[in-house]
Parts: sequence; C-alpha cells; structure tokens
Amino acid sequence: MRCDHCSRSEATVFVELHHNIGMLFARRSYTTAAELCRKCLGKSFWHHTLRNLTLGWWGTISFFVTWYYLLSNIVTYVQARAEMGRSRQRAAPAVKEARGADALRILQPFEHNIRMQLRMGDDPSDIARDMARLHGVESSAAQAFVEQLRTSA
Ligand SMILES: [Zn+2]
Repeated sequence: MRCDHCSRSEATVFVELHHNIGMLFARRSYTTAAELCRKCLGKSFWHHTLRNLTLGWWGTISFFVTWYYLLSNIVTYVQARAEMGRSRQRAAPAVKEARGADALRILQPFEHNIRMQLRMGDDPSDIARDMARLHGVESSAAQAFVEQLRTSA
C-alpha cells in the first residue's frame, strides 16, 4: 500500500489516532485516520501524544477523554507495529518449507500435542496452520498429518 502522508509505497497499516484539546469549558478532538508507513506512524503517534499530554487535560470531560485517547493511541500504535512486522515477514523471501517425509519427521514429536488439541475440540485446520507456521512445514503436509491423527483417534 501507499502511505497517505509521504506517498512512499511500502508496508502500511490503517490507523486512527486522536488527540484532545481541552479549553476548560469546551474541547476539540483531532483525528488522523490514514494508511501510514512505519515512519509516518511514529511521527503521527508522537504528534498526537505530545498534544494530549500538554493540551489535553484542561477541563473535566477533557481530563477523561485525554486518558482514553492516550491509551487507545498506544494500543493502536503497538498493534500497527506488530501488523507491519508480520507483513514484512510475509514479504521476505520464504524459507523453504519441509514437505513429505521431512515434514513428517518434524511433526512426529508433536503427535501427542495435536491429539490433545483435537480432543479439546480445536479446529483441525487451525491446528494444522499453527503447526505449519511454527515448524516450517508445508501447510498441506501439516494438514494431512493432523487429518491422519484425527481419523485414527
Ligand atoms: Zn509515510
């Protein structure tokens, strides 16, 4: 995606960040709602945080709104950074996934765990997806393995 602020194309995340300006008996909110790259996300986060901290508190309602904005901005920021990290991993050249007998050899030690998860009623395709991701095996191989355990349970 293309960043709404600097128009560079790289990993971006849609975020909404806010700040409050308290004026004793009135208040105003300012919002950024945009698709942002990592750099602009940081800039925007500090832009709003600084204003919340310095201009936010002045007024009874403002006091609470500012707290809310500060916390929700932090949550948004942390989640957006995590999201960017994941999309960067996806973009990186994929590590070759194990398949066939290799996959089986990797998955075998987890047979007990998988059986437990199946017994607890977890969705077989969720289990297979986790296995594939955690242990670097092809998802079709993980699926076949889980399926085989499910039918032999
Ligand atoms: Zn940007």
